[in-house]
Amino acid sequence: MWMRVLGSAAGGGFPQWNCSCPTCRAVRSGERPGQARTQSSIAVSADYRRWFLFNASPDIRAQIESFPALHPRDDRATPLEAVLLTDAELDHTLGLLLLREGRGLRLHTTGSAHQTLCEGSALLPTLERYCPVEWQEVVPGADVPLGAGLSYRAFDVPTKKRARFGHGSRQGRVVGYRLTDERSGRALVYLPGVQQLTAEVRAQMDDCACLLIDGTCWRDDEMVRLGLASKTARDMGHLPIDGPGGSLELVSPLPIERKIYIHINNTNPILLDDAPERRIVEERGMEVAMDGLEVEV
Ligand SMILES: [Zn+2]
Ligand SMILES: [Zn+2]
Repeated sequence: MWMRVLGSAAGGGFPQWNCSCPTCRAVRSGERPGQARTQSSIAVSADYRRWFLFNASPDIRAQIESFPALHPRDDRATPLEAVLLTDAELDHTLGLLLLREGRGLRLHTTGSAHQTLCEGSALLPTLERYCPVEWQEVVPGADVPLGAGLSYRAFDVPTKKRARFGHGSRQGRVVGYRLTDERSGRALVYLPGVQQLTAEVRAQMDDCACLLIDGTCWRDDEMVRLGLASKTARDMGHLPIDGPGGSLELVSPLPIERKIYIHINNTNPILLDDAPERRIVEERGMEVAMDGLEVEV
């Protein structure tokens, strides 16, 4: 199967419009090497013809334009088969509204995320005024054929993050996906938001060939130290990269061919090509996603 990183940044993108933290300043001014990045989303295909999107970012229009395989064919038919959501966060779902010109949309979410999209952000009822949406419920733990040579299993990712809309049961509020190419049997895991690598979450990574994992913050207190938030990375549902119990320590020894950080917040120093933190990540055999990165899994 093929995986294309459409966007690699966390909510707000990089640089973020209202942010002048050291990394945003550095990339904006060009004084240090680094690439601007759009908000996180990936596209996956087993045949390079029919594509599935994982999350729909507010940058989706530019992301589709940047990837010829997603361009429309005759008659406004598009290679986009369906969108699968890991949760109902705005940076993962606002792009759904931008697909409203389509003939219809197949959407896979858990019941919890569906409830939030209907009753919380009200994004789905708005979209349905424009185009029909065929909702397929994602049930964590179930193996589901997706069509076009792929199957998936969603798995529950426990989170302490406050539910902004006050809707949605705790179970299934955030999930990760394990996607399998039915022909080769090789698997990819998409986990852009994970607060803790529980044994259950870890088990889903077993024998996968490619892992895309939460790279939101380098340090747990990154946003606090910059004076940008009072919450730690863990408070916001994200396991930091550095430090004891951080993702670098836990994930880098795993025998997975490609281990790639994605959903990287604009404050994270690994975004700059010359940062010592970037070197540390790469020396431990992990990668930092860029927009446009393509992997044949
Ligand atoms: Zn996000
Ligand atoms: Zn910033």
